[in-house]
Amino acid sequence: MPPEVGTVSWGSVVRDAFRLLPERVQVFDTTLRDGEQTPGVSLRKEEKVEVARALAELGVAVIEAGYPAVSRGEHEAVREISRLGLGPKVCALARCDRRDIDRAVDAGVDWVHVFIATSEIHMRHKLRMTPEQVYEAAVESVEYAKSRGVEVHFSCEDATRSERSFLLRVYKGAAEAGADSLDVPDTVGVAIPLVMRELARQVREATGLPVAVHCHDDMGLATANTIAGVEGGAEIVHVTVNGIGERAGNASLEEVVVALKVLYGVDSGIDLSKLAAVSRLVSSLTGMVVQRNKAVVGDHAFSHESGIHVHGVINNPLTYEPIAPELVGKRRRIVVGKHSGTHAVVEVLRQHGFELDLEEGKRVLERVKELADTGARLTEQLLLGLVRDDPSLVSSQPLEVISVSLRADGREVSGEVEVFLRGERVTGFGRGRSPVSASISAVANVVSRVLGPVEVVECSVYVPPNPDRCPAEAEVVLRFNGSTLVGRGLAHDPAMAVAMAVGGAVSQALSMRTGGDGS
Ligand code: MN
Repeated sequence: MPPEVGTVSWGSVVRDAFRLLPERVQVFDTTLRDGEQTPGVSLRKEEKVEVARALAELGVAVIEAGYPAVSRGEHEAVREISRLGLGPKVCALARCDRRDIDRAVDAGVDWVHVFIATSEIHMRHKLRMTPEQVYEAAVESVEYAKSRGVEVHFSCEDATRSERSFLLRVYKGAAEAGADSLDVPDTVGVAIPLVMRELARQVREATGLPVAVHCHDDMGLATANTIAGVEGGAEIVHVTVNGIGERAGNASLEEVVVALKVLYGVDSGIDLSKLAAVSRLVSSLTGMVVQRNKAVVGDHAFSHESGIHVHGVINNPLTYEPIAPELVGKRRRIVVGKHSGTHAVVEVLRQHGFELDLEEGKRVLERVKELADTGARLTEQLLLGLVRDDPSLVSSQPLEVISVSLRADGREVSGEVEVFLRGERVTGFGRGRSPVSASISAVANVVSRVLGPVEVVECSVYVPPNPDRCPAEAEVVLRFNGSTLVGRGLAHDPAMAVAMAVGGAVSQALSMRTGGDGS
């Protein structure tokens, strides 16, 4: 059965198939705990607080802020996040150990997430405890945590590899000991949707408590498994921003909440329009780059290349977009390629600062096709080369970057850029902690001195795996002259690429001011 047209939701189909599907779920965000356990990632206290503030604005129900037993710094960060009273409940992780639980409670949290492993392999080789000892420890720890006046969220670690009747017995014991909610973790990412759905249903049925699912992406099934848990009646989803986390990561917050909302009609309380910004924040603080073709928040999630698709989305975006990019705070992007049409050529060149009308666009496209017939592969790079080599095709950019020269001096990079600004040669100076930031600051210096203040709202640079072969790509969003503008730059040197992207954006503002050519 096709989805309901316009709403795209599978609506009544899912309601008929999954009678336990809740109306809404609570988002339990573990970016600051499991997400921070990503290999190589470690956040400073201020950075954790910044992420927590963003999560609160996003609308998550629970922030798992950390594991206070790990270190003093971690304890302080959790305490600070609790103290701020941001809105969401704050949770901390604790083993079935009184000292761990005390450390968590003393950090001022609302929830303590108590866990113990219940799989044969974990009990024997990690805990070195018998199943009976594990059961006792779980019950005793839940009782203890409850006695300290917090809400208790209890997990059987490695639940999906645990013997089922023992697993359910431990969950029941925890429930009777006073746990407020239970979590079913697929700790090593081996579940399949059918299993998660069934497990969530069984744990809920056995205990009557709200159930959470915690899925890992070792087989690329974290999102599907999380949603299957919801189909089985789970009302809490453990997720991380950008899906960061141990090994292949956790279920991605963006994917889970958008799929639940759009496809299932299940609300999560998340302000979807903030997803892109939170994704960028977490990526920049953790250094975990988001894969370009990642669902919802990837660079290419709303990019269109082929002529048929571009023509389609220009006429009606629903033709090739399941959701509007604005819904999740993204922008549509048109990319030139082998099958591009005139609209794509005009749009892409505009972002590089070239203003042209459809007639000029057609002329450029003809040249492009002649080249393509000789076997050249149409890329953004080829298109730019073409218009730069033949000034008769398109008039030049109002702001053209000529050169960037930078020096690294200890921890700082400084240098200058030379630009043609409406035909005049001007130099700007800048400094920063990287070549990219120094270069942006130098172009911004020229622009603010000569034309007025410019604010860089966003900047992303993609450096390909083989930078000698393919150029680096930069995209910047600027606020200049009262407009918000997207500029793009391509160059083998990433610092040059960002300078050109700033130039591309400023050129658009200048073309608008002078009236451009009216196109
Ligand atoms: Mn985990």
